[in-house]
Amino acid sequence: MSVFSDVAALLVGLKTTLGETFKPHVTVQWPEEKSVRSERYRGRHYLRRYDNGLERCIGCELCAAACPVGCILVIAAENTAENRVSPGERYAKVYEINMLRCIFCGYCEEACPVQAIVLGPEYELSNVSREQFIYTKEMLLEPSPQQPPLYAGKKSQH
Ligand code: SF4
Ligand code: SF4
Repeated sequence: MSVFSDVAALLVGLKTTLGETFKPHVTVQWPEEKSVRSERYRGRHYLRRYDNGLERCIGCELCAAACPVGCILVIAAENTAENRVSPGERYAKVYEINMLRCIFCGYCEEACPVQAIVLGPEYELSNVSREQFIYTKEMLLEPSPQQPPLYAGKKSQH
């Protein structure tokens, strides 16, 4: 009796295996093929500009204050008539994120009053040294409107 039940259980298992064998494969052929991120995915950060090319960041440091792991450094400087970088009184002269500490919580994005810092869809962030995980303003700032965009997400929010 128990032999029959064992064989029956074996056949049920084989049926499941055979059923899965002929289904379409779901393995993503990364890195040639990228998996789709949801719209709310929180990946690599970017500093955004306005359409006229001015930087959105006004150096207020609210993102740094909101960051639970203290991985954002902002050093502000005054805008002048000769050197206007952002529409506000100040701009971020230095803006750095230590990506090794970042937990991708998105609090910086939530705290920013001008939607300057955003977390985009990019998730391929590996590197070979600790120093290269300190993302500088030059690395984070999106190109001016004349240059091609760095990413395609979250541009239409404001
Ligand atoms: S996503 Fe979170 S941890 Fe990362 S920089 Fe922003 S506030 Fe800090
Ligand atoms: S990114 Fe936003 S919150 Fe952070 S310093 Fe710039 S304006 Fe302030």
